[in-house]
Amino acid sequence: MDFSFTSDQENLRTHLQELLGAVCPPEYAERCDQEARPPREAYDALGKHGWLGLNIPTEHGGSGGSAIELAILLEECGRHFEELGMWVFRTMTYGGYAVARHGTAEQKTNLLPRVARGELSFCFALTEPHSGSDAAALTTRATPREGGFAINGQKVFTSGMDISDYCLLVTRTSTSEKKQAGITNFLVDTKLPGIDVRKIATLGQRAIGTTQVFYNDVTVPASAVLGEIDRGWEAVDAYLWYERLCLSAARTGAATAAFDYALDYAKNREQFGRPIGKFQAIAHKLADMRVMLDLSRMLTYRFAWLLDQGKATRHDAAVLKLYTSESYKAVSDMGLQILGGYGYCMEYPMQRFFRDSRLAVIGAGTSEIQRNIIARGLGL
Ligand SMILES: Cc1cc2nc3c(=O)[nH]c(=O)nc-3n(C[C@H](O)[C@H](O)[C@H](O)COP(=O)(O)OP(=O)(O)OC[C@H]3O[C@@H](n4cnc5c(N)ncnc54)[C@H](O)[C@@H]3O)c2cc1C
Repeated sequence: MDFSFTSDQENLRTHLQELLGAVCPPEYAERCDQEARPPREAYDALGKHGWLGLNIPTEHGGSGGSAIELAILLEECGRHFEELGMWVFRTMTYGGYAVARHGTAEQKTNLLPRVARGELSFCFALTEPHSGSDAAALTTRATPREGGFAINGQKVFTSGMDISDYCLLVTRTSTSEKKQAGITNFLVDTKLPGIDVRKIATLGQRAIGTTQVFYNDVTVPASAVLGEIDRGWEAVDAYLWYERLCLSAARTGAATAAFDYALDYAKNREQFGRPIGKFQAIAHKLADMRVMLDLSRMLTYRFAWLLDQGKATRHDAAVLKLYTSESYKAVSDMGLQILGGYGYCMEYPMQRFFRDSRLAVIGAGTSEIQRNIIARGLGL
Protein backbone atom coordinates (compact mmCIF):
# COMPACT_ATOMS: atom_id res chain seq x y z
CA MET A 1 0.00 0.00 0.00
CA ASP A 2 1.46 3.35 -1.08
CA PHE A 3 -0.20 6.60 0.01
CA SER A 4 2.26 8.96 -1.72
CA PHE A 5 1.67 11.04 -4.83
CA THR A 6 4.09 10.59 -7.74
CA SER A 7 6.49 13.43 -8.48
CA ASP A 8 4.44 14.21 -11.64
CA GLN A 9 1.33 14.53 -9.49
CA GLU A 10 3.17 16.79 -7.02
CA ASN A 11 4.27 18.93 -9.99
CA LEU A 12 0.68 19.15 -11.26
CA ARG A 13 -0.40 20.44 -7.87
CA THR A 14 2.41 23.00 -7.74
CA HIS A 15 1.57 24.29 -11.23
CA LEU A 16 -2.09 24.55 -10.32
CA GLN A 17 -1.36 26.39 -7.09
CA GLU A 18 0.75 28.91 -8.99
CA LEU A 19 -1.89 29.42 -11.69
CA LEU A 20 -4.86 29.62 -9.32
CA GLY A 21 -2.93 31.83 -6.90
CA ALA A 22 -2.57 34.30 -9.78
CA VAL A 23 -6.03 34.08 -11.42
CA CYS A 24 -8.23 33.19 -8.42
CA PRO A 25 -6.94 34.93 -5.27
CA PRO A 26 -9.27 35.23 -2.22
CA GLU A 27 -10.40 38.80 -3.13
CA TYR A 28 -11.50 37.56 -6.57
CA ALA A 29 -13.56 34.72 -5.05
CA GLU A 30 -15.16 37.17 -2.60
CA ARG A 31 -16.04 39.57 -5.41
CA CYS A 32 -17.61 36.86 -7.59
CA ASP A 33 -19.73 35.71 -4.63
CA GLN A 34 -20.81 39.23 -3.66
CA GLU A 35 -21.60 40.30 -7.22
CA ALA A 36 -23.16 36.92 -8.14
CA ARG A 37 -20.99 36.60 -11.21
CA PRO A 38 -19.30 33.44 -12.51
CA PRO A 39 -15.49 33.21 -12.15
CA ARG A 40 -15.12 33.45 -15.95
CA GLU A 41 -11.52 34.72 -15.98
CA ALA A 42 -10.32 31.86 -13.76
CA TYR A 43 -12.31 29.26 -15.76
CA ASP A 44 -10.89 30.59 -19.03
CA ALA A 45 -7.35 30.54 -17.64
CA LEU A 46 -7.72 26.87 -16.66
CA GLY A 47 -9.07 26.13 -20.16
CA LYS A 48 -6.25 28.02 -21.84
CA HIS A 49 -3.68 25.98 -19.91
CA GLY A 50 -5.37 22.70 -20.90
CA TRP A 51 -6.67 21.73 -17.44
CA LEU A 52 -10.23 21.07 -18.64
CA GLY A 53 -8.85 18.32 -20.89
CA LEU A 54 -7.14 16.53 -18.00
CA ASN A 55 -9.59 13.58 -18.06
CA ILE A 56 -10.07 13.48 -21.85
CA PRO A 57 -8.21 10.77 -23.84
CA THR A 58 -5.15 12.03 -25.69
CA GLU A 59 -6.57 11.04 -29.11
CA HIS A 60 -9.31 13.64 -28.53
CA GLY A 61 -7.00 16.46 -27.50
CA GLY A 62 -6.86 15.82 -23.75
CA SER A 63 -4.07 14.62 -21.51
CA GLY A 64 -5.61 11.27 -20.44
CA GLY A 65 -5.11 11.92 -16.73
CA SER A 66 -6.21 9.57 -13.95
CA ALA A 67 -8.97 10.05 -11.39
CA ILE A 68 -6.27 10.87 -8.81
CA GLU A 69 -5.05 13.74 -10.98
CA LEU A 70 -8.64 14.89 -11.45
CA ALA A 71 -9.05 14.94 -7.66
CA ILE A 72 -5.89 17.05 -7.32
CA LEU A 73 -7.28 19.56 -9.83
CA LEU A 74 -10.63 19.79 -8.06
CA GLU A 75 -9.15 19.96 -4.58
CA GLU A 76 -7.02 22.92 -5.65
CA CYS A 77 -9.93 24.63 -7.45
CA GLY A 78 -12.09 24.18 -4.34
CA ARG A 79 -9.37 25.51 -2.08
CA HIS A 80 -9.27 28.72 -4.13
CA PHE A 81 -12.99 29.03 -4.85
CA GLU A 82 -15.55 26.26 -4.47
CA GLU A 83 -17.77 27.59 -7.24
CA LEU A 84 -14.87 27.50 -9.69
CA GLY A 85 -14.54 23.82 -8.77
CA MET A 86 -18.28 23.31 -9.35
CA TRP A 87 -18.10 24.85 -12.83
CA VAL A 88 -14.97 22.89 -13.76
CA PHE A 89 -16.37 19.57 -12.51
CA ARG A 90 -19.68 19.95 -14.39
CA THR A 91 -17.89 20.49 -17.69
CA MET A 92 -15.36 17.73 -17.02
CA THR A 93 -18.03 15.23 -15.88
CA TYR A 94 -20.92 15.97 -18.26
CA GLY A 95 -18.82 17.15 -21.20
CA GLY A 96 -15.53 15.23 -20.80
CA TYR A 97 -16.24 11.98 -18.93
CA ALA A 98 -19.82 11.36 -20.17
CA VAL A 99 -19.04 12.04 -23.84
CA ALA A 100 -15.77 10.05 -23.75
CA ARG A 101 -17.58 7.12 -22.12
CA HIS A 102 -20.90 7.02 -24.00
CA GLY A 103 -20.59 9.39 -26.96
CA THR A 104 -20.72 8.38 -30.63
CA ALA A 105 -17.57 8.85 -32.74
CA GLU A 106 -19.16 12.03 -34.12
CA GLN A 107 -19.98 13.42 -30.66
CA LYS A 108 -16.45 12.69 -29.46
CA THR A 109 -14.86 14.35 -32.49
CA ASN A 110 -17.14 17.38 -32.29
CA LEU A 111 -17.11 18.00 -28.57
CA LEU A 112 -14.10 16.58 -26.75
CA PRO A 113 -11.34 18.70 -28.35
CA ARG A 114 -13.43 21.83 -27.67
CA VAL A 115 -13.97 20.83 -24.04
CA ALA A 116 -10.23 20.19 -23.72
CA ARG A 117 -9.48 23.67 -25.09
CA GLY A 118 -11.87 25.24 -22.57
CA GLU A 119 -14.27 26.44 -25.27
CA LEU A 120 -17.43 24.79 -23.90
CA SER A 121 -19.36 24.60 -20.63
CA PHE A 122 -21.74 21.82 -19.60
CA CYS A 123 -24.39 21.40 -16.92
CA PHE A 124 -26.59 18.53 -15.71
CA ALA A 125 -30.40 18.34 -15.42
CA LEU A 126 -31.77 15.42 -13.45
CA THR A 127 -33.88 16.92 -10.64
CA GLU A 128 -37.52 17.89 -11.26
CA PRO A 129 -40.07 19.56 -9.00
CA HIS A 130 -41.67 16.18 -8.13
CA SER A 131 -38.55 14.00 -8.30
CA GLY A 132 -35.65 15.04 -6.07
CA SER A 133 -34.28 12.21 -3.91
CA ASP A 134 -36.53 9.87 -5.90
CA ALA A 135 -34.69 10.99 -9.03
CA ALA A 136 -35.68 8.08 -11.29
CA ALA A 137 -39.35 9.11 -10.97
CA LEU A 138 -38.67 11.92 -13.48
CA THR A 139 -41.34 12.76 -16.06
CA THR A 140 -39.72 15.19 -18.54
CA ARG A 141 -40.69 13.49 -21.79
CA ALA A 142 -38.77 13.04 -25.05
CA THR A 143 -41.08 11.88 -27.85
CA PRO A 144 -39.84 10.77 -31.30
CA ARG A 145 -40.48 13.37 -33.97
CA GLU A 146 -39.30 13.28 -37.59
CA GLY A 147 -35.48 13.29 -37.54
CA GLY A 148 -35.27 13.63 -33.77
CA PHE A 149 -37.26 14.19 -30.57
CA ALA A 150 -39.59 16.74 -28.99
CA ILE A 151 -38.87 17.47 -25.33
CA ASN A 152 -41.52 18.67 -22.89
CA GLY A 153 -41.28 19.08 -19.14
CA GLN A 154 -39.69 20.96 -16.32
CA LYS A 155 -36.40 20.67 -14.46
CA VAL A 156 -35.41 22.43 -11.24
CA PHE A 157 -31.98 23.20 -9.78
CA THR A 158 -30.09 22.93 -13.09
CA SER A 159 -26.95 24.71 -11.86
CA GLY A 160 -25.13 26.83 -14.41
CA MET A 161 -27.73 26.36 -17.20
CA ASP A 162 -27.49 30.07 -18.04
CA ILE A 163 -23.71 29.90 -18.58
CA SER A 164 -23.57 26.51 -20.32
CA ASP A 165 -23.42 25.62 -24.00
CA TYR A 166 -24.82 22.11 -23.45
CA CYS A 167 -26.96 20.46 -20.82
CA LEU A 168 -26.88 16.73 -20.20
CA LEU A 169 -30.64 16.31 -19.90
CA VAL A 170 -32.16 13.15 -18.39
CA THR A 171 -35.58 12.34 -19.89
CA ARG A 172 -38.23 9.65 -20.01
CA THR A 173 -38.71 8.01 -23.39
CA SER A 174 -40.94 5.13 -22.31
CA THR A 175 -42.88 4.00 -19.27
CA SER A 176 -42.63 0.60 -17.64
CA GLU A 177 -43.09 -0.89 -14.18
CA LYS A 178 -39.49 -0.21 -13.24
CA LYS A 179 -38.94 3.56 -13.13
CA GLN A 180 -35.20 3.19 -13.91
CA ALA A 181 -36.14 1.73 -17.31
CA GLY A 182 -37.19 3.98 -20.20
CA ILE A 183 -34.73 6.78 -19.46
CA THR A 184 -32.69 8.46 -22.21
CA ASN A 185 -29.97 11.10 -21.92
CA PHE A 186 -29.56 13.97 -24.35
CA LEU A 187 -26.87 16.56 -24.96
CA VAL A 188 -29.09 19.59 -25.47
CA ASP A 189 -27.93 22.90 -26.89
CA THR A 190 -29.01 25.30 -24.12
CA LYS A 191 -29.98 28.05 -26.59
CA LEU A 192 -32.62 26.05 -28.49
CA PRO A 193 -36.06 27.63 -28.99
CA GLY A 194 -38.59 26.49 -26.37
CA ILE A 195 -36.10 26.48 -23.47
CA ASP A 196 -36.99 28.99 -20.76
CA VAL A 197 -34.45 29.49 -17.94
CA ARG A 198 -35.25 31.23 -14.64
CA LYS A 199 -32.67 31.94 -11.95
CA ILE A 200 -33.38 30.74 -8.39
CA ALA A 201 -32.15 32.90 -5.49
CA THR A 202 -30.18 30.72 -3.03
CA LEU A 203 -28.45 30.95 0.37
CA GLY A 204 -25.01 30.17 -1.07
CA GLN A 205 -23.31 29.14 -4.32
CA ARG A 206 -24.19 32.57 -5.61
CA ALA A 207 -21.48 33.13 -8.20
CA ILE A 208 -22.90 30.58 -10.63
CA GLY A 209 -26.12 29.66 -8.91
CA THR A 210 -28.91 27.45 -10.04
CA THR A 211 -31.97 27.65 -12.28
CA GLN A 212 -35.42 26.34 -13.06
CA VAL A 213 -35.80 25.29 -16.69
CA PHE A 214 -38.95 24.80 -18.75
CA TYR A 215 -38.84 22.71 -21.94
CA ASN A 216 -41.76 23.61 -24.20
CA ASP A 217 -41.78 21.42 -27.30
CA VAL A 218 -38.01 21.69 -27.75
CA THR A 219 -36.89 19.94 -30.94
CA VAL A 220 -33.57 18.12 -30.76
CA PRO A 221 -31.94 16.04 -33.51
CA ALA A 222 -31.42 12.28 -33.08
CA SER A 223 -27.68 13.01 -32.93
CA ALA A 224 -28.28 14.67 -29.53
CA VAL A 225 -28.96 11.30 -27.85
CA LEU A 226 -26.08 10.33 -25.57
CA GLY A 227 -25.79 6.57 -25.11
CA GLU A 228 -28.60 4.07 -25.56
CA ILE A 229 -32.27 4.96 -25.87
CA ASP A 230 -34.34 3.80 -22.87
CA ARG A 231 -31.20 2.56 -21.07
CA GLY A 232 -29.80 5.83 -19.77
CA TRP A 233 -30.18 5.23 -16.02
CA GLU A 234 -27.08 3.05 -15.75
CA ALA A 235 -25.09 5.89 -17.32
CA VAL A 236 -26.60 8.44 -14.91
CA ASP A 237 -25.48 6.22 -12.05
CA ALA A 238 -21.91 6.19 -13.38
CA TYR A 239 -21.94 10.00 -13.82
CA LEU A 240 -23.15 10.42 -10.24
CA TRP A 241 -20.26 8.33 -8.88
CA TYR A 242 -17.82 10.44 -10.85
CA GLU A 243 -19.62 13.58 -9.62
CA ARG A 244 -19.25 12.38 -6.02
CA LEU A 245 -15.50 12.18 -6.44
CA CYS A 246 -15.33 15.67 -7.98
CA LEU A 247 -17.62 17.27 -5.39
CA SER A 248 -15.78 15.63 -2.51
CA ALA A 249 -12.39 16.77 -3.78
CA ALA A 250 -13.58 20.36 -4.36
CA ARG A 251 -15.30 20.53 -0.98
CA THR A 252 -12.33 19.08 0.85
CA GLY A 253 -10.32 21.89 -0.76
CA ALA A 254 -12.89 24.50 0.34
CA ALA A 255 -12.98 23.06 3.88
CA THR A 256 -9.18 23.30 3.97
CA ALA A 257 -9.38 27.00 3.06
CA ALA A 258 -11.94 27.57 5.86
CA PHE A 259 -9.69 25.71 8.30
CA ASP A 260 -6.55 27.66 7.30
CA TYR A 261 -8.40 30.94 7.80
CA ALA A 262 -9.71 29.89 11.24
CA LEU A 263 -6.29 28.62 12.35
CA ASP A 264 -4.59 31.84 11.36
CA TYR A 265 -7.30 33.84 13.13
CA ALA A 266 -6.97 31.75 16.31
CA LYS A 267 -3.23 32.42 16.39
CA ASN A 268 -3.62 36.17 15.99
CA ARG A 269 -6.84 37.18 17.75
CA GLU A 270 -6.13 37.95 21.41
CA GLN A 271 -8.59 37.96 24.30
CA PHE A 272 -7.77 37.86 28.03
CA GLY A 273 -4.16 38.70 27.09
CA ARG A 274 -3.43 35.69 24.89
CA PRO A 275 -4.26 34.26 21.45
CA ILE A 276 -7.68 32.56 21.52
CA GLY A 277 -6.03 29.43 20.05
CA LYS A 278 -4.39 28.94 23.46
CA PHE A 279 -7.82 28.28 24.99
CA GLN A 280 -8.50 24.57 24.93
CA ALA A 281 -12.08 25.11 23.71
CA ILE A 282 -10.73 26.70 20.50
CA ALA A 283 -7.65 24.45 20.14
CA HIS A 284 -9.79 21.30 20.35
CA LYS A 285 -12.12 22.61 17.67
CA LEU A 286 -9.14 23.13 15.38
CA ALA A 287 -7.83 19.65 16.22
CA ASP A 288 -11.22 18.11 15.36
CA MET A 289 -11.38 20.11 12.12
CA ARG A 290 -7.93 18.90 11.17
CA VAL A 291 -8.88 15.25 11.75
CA MET A 292 -11.96 15.67 9.53
CA LEU A 293 -9.82 17.16 6.78
CA ASP A 294 -7.28 14.33 6.99
CA LEU A 295 -10.04 11.74 6.71
CA SER A 296 -11.82 13.62 3.91
CA ARG A 297 -8.61 13.71 1.88
CA MET A 298 -7.91 10.07 2.53
CA LEU A 299 -11.41 9.01 1.47
CA THR A 300 -11.24 11.23 -1.63
CA TYR A 301 -7.95 9.84 -2.91
CA ARG A 302 -8.89 6.29 -1.93
CA PHE A 303 -12.07 6.59 -4.00
CA ALA A 304 -10.10 8.10 -6.91
CA TRP A 305 -7.72 5.14 -6.75
CA LEU A 306 -10.65 2.68 -6.60
CA LEU A 307 -12.21 4.35 -9.67
CA ASP A 308 -8.92 4.10 -11.56
CA GLN A 309 -8.72 0.40 -10.63
CA GLY A 310 -12.34 -0.21 -11.65
CA LYS A 311 -13.05 -1.34 -8.07
CA ALA A 312 -15.25 1.48 -6.72
CA THR A 313 -18.61 0.40 -5.26
CA ARG A 314 -21.90 2.15 -4.50
CA HIS A 315 -21.02 1.87 -0.79
CA ASP A 316 -17.64 3.62 -1.32
CA ALA A 317 -19.30 6.47 -3.25
CA ALA A 318 -21.92 6.95 -0.51
CA VAL A 319 -19.35 6.89 2.33
CA LEU A 320 -17.23 9.43 0.45
CA LYS A 321 -20.13 11.82 -0.28
CA LEU A 322 -21.57 11.54 3.24
CA TYR A 323 -18.33 12.03 5.15
CA THR A 324 -16.73 14.79 3.09
CA SER A 325 -19.89 16.91 2.88
CA GLU A 326 -20.81 16.54 6.57
CA SER A 327 -17.18 17.39 7.44
CA TYR A 328 -17.21 20.49 5.25
CA LYS A 329 -20.40 21.66 6.97
CA ALA A 330 -18.94 20.97 10.45
CA VAL A 331 -15.58 22.62 9.65
CA SER A 332 -17.28 25.79 8.34
CA ASP A 333 -19.60 25.91 11.33
CA MET A 334 -16.71 25.58 13.81
CA GLY A 335 -14.66 28.08 11.77
CA LEU A 336 -17.48 30.61 12.07
CA GLN A 337 -17.62 30.06 15.85
CA ILE A 338 -13.85 30.59 16.15
CA LEU A 339 -14.21 34.00 14.49
CA GLY A 340 -16.91 34.99 17.00
CA GLY A 341 -18.94 38.01 15.83
CA TYR A 342 -16.64 38.52 12.85
CA GLY A 343 -17.57 35.08 11.53
CA TYR A 344 -21.12 36.36 11.20
CA CYS A 345 -20.10 39.46 9.20
CA MET A 346 -20.35 39.52 5.41
CA GLU A 347 -16.96 41.22 5.03
CA TYR A 348 -15.18 38.15 6.44
CA PRO A 349 -15.00 35.04 4.23
CA MET A 350 -16.15 32.47 6.81
CA GLN A 351 -19.84 33.18 6.20
CA ARG A 352 -19.38 32.14 2.53
CA PHE A 353 -17.98 28.74 3.51
CA PHE A 354 -20.82 28.38 6.02
CA ARG A 355 -23.46 29.21 3.36
CA ASP A 356 -21.85 27.18 0.57
CA SER A 357 -21.24 24.13 2.76
CA ARG A 358 -24.94 23.86 3.59
CA LEU A 359 -25.58 22.65 0.04
CA ALA A 360 -22.96 19.90 0.35
CA VAL A 361 -25.25 17.77 2.52
CA ILE A 362 -28.27 18.32 0.21
CA GLY A 363 -27.16 18.41 -3.45
CA ALA A 364 -26.26 15.30 -5.49
CA GLY A 365 -28.02 13.05 -2.98
CA THR A 366 -28.75 14.21 0.57
CA SER A 367 -26.92 12.81 3.60
CA GLU A 368 -30.09 10.88 4.47
CA ILE A 369 -30.01 9.18 1.06
CA GLN A 370 -26.29 8.34 1.43
CA ARG A 371 -27.05 6.74 4.82
CA ASN A 372 -29.90 4.77 3.20
CA ILE A 373 -27.47 3.43 0.57
CA ILE A 374 -24.93 2.42 3.23
CA ALA A 375 -27.66 0.82 5.38
CA ARG A 376 -29.07 -1.11 2.38
CA GLY A 377 -25.58 -2.49 1.77
CA LEU A 378 -25.67 -3.79 5.35
CA GLY A 379 -28.81 -5.75 4.55
CA LEU A 380 -31.08 -3.30 6.43
C1 LIG B 1 -28.25 24.94 -5.06
C2 LIG B 1 -28.62 23.61 -5.63
C3 LIG B 1 -27.96 23.14 -6.76
C4 LIG B 1 -28.35 21.94 -7.35
N1 LIG B 1 -27.78 21.56 -8.54
C5 LIG B 1 -28.33 20.52 -9.23
C6 LIG B 1 -27.93 20.27 -10.57
O1 LIG B 1 -27.05 20.94 -11.12
N2 LIG B 1 -28.58 19.28 -11.26
C7 LIG B 1 -29.56 18.52 -10.69
O2 LIG B 1 -30.09 17.65 -11.37
N3 LIG B 1 -29.94 18.73 -9.40
C8 LIG B 1 -29.35 19.71 -8.66
N4 LIG B 1 -29.76 19.97 -7.36
C9 LIG B 1 -30.84 19.15 -6.80
C10 LIG B 1 -30.43 18.31 -5.59
O3 LIG B 1 -29.66 17.21 -6.01
C11 LIG B 1 -31.73 17.94 -4.84
O4 LIG B 1 -32.16 19.13 -4.19
C12 LIG B 1 -31.51 16.82 -3.84
O5 LIG B 1 -31.24 15.61 -4.50
C13 LIG B 1 -32.72 16.64 -2.92
O6 LIG B 1 -33.93 16.63 -3.62
P1 LIG B 1 -35.13 17.60 -3.13
O7 LIG B 1 -34.56 18.96 -2.96
O8 LIG B 1 -36.27 17.43 -4.06
O9 LIG B 1 -35.50 17.07 -1.69
P2 LIG B 1 -36.50 15.87 -1.32
O10 LIG B 1 -36.15 14.65 -2.11
O11 LIG B 1 -37.89 16.36 -1.38
O12 LIG B 1 -36.10 15.61 0.19
C14 LIG B 1 -36.57 16.43 1.28
C15 LIG B 1 -36.02 15.85 2.58
O13 LIG B 1 -36.53 14.50 2.76
C16 LIG B 1 -35.44 13.60 2.89
N5 LIG B 1 -35.78 12.32 2.24
C17 LIG B 1 -36.31 12.12 1.00
N6 LIG B 1 -36.43 10.82 0.75
C18 LIG B 1 -35.94 10.17 1.83
C19 LIG B 1 -35.77 8.79 2.18
N7 LIG B 1 -36.09 7.81 1.34
N8 LIG B 1 -35.21 8.51 3.38
C20 LIG B 1 -34.85 9.50 4.25
N9 LIG B 1 -34.99 10.81 3.97
C21 LIG B 1 -35.51 11.13 2.78
C22 LIG B 1 -34.25 14.28 2.22
O14 LIG B 1 -33.03 13.76 2.68
C23 LIG B 1 -34.51 15.73 2.59
O15 LIG B 1 -34.02 15.97 3.89
C24 LIG B 1 -29.36 21.14 -6.74
C25 LIG B 1 -29.97 21.59 -5.55
C26 LIG B 1 -29.63 22.81 -5.01
C27 LIG B 1 -30.34 23.29 -3.76
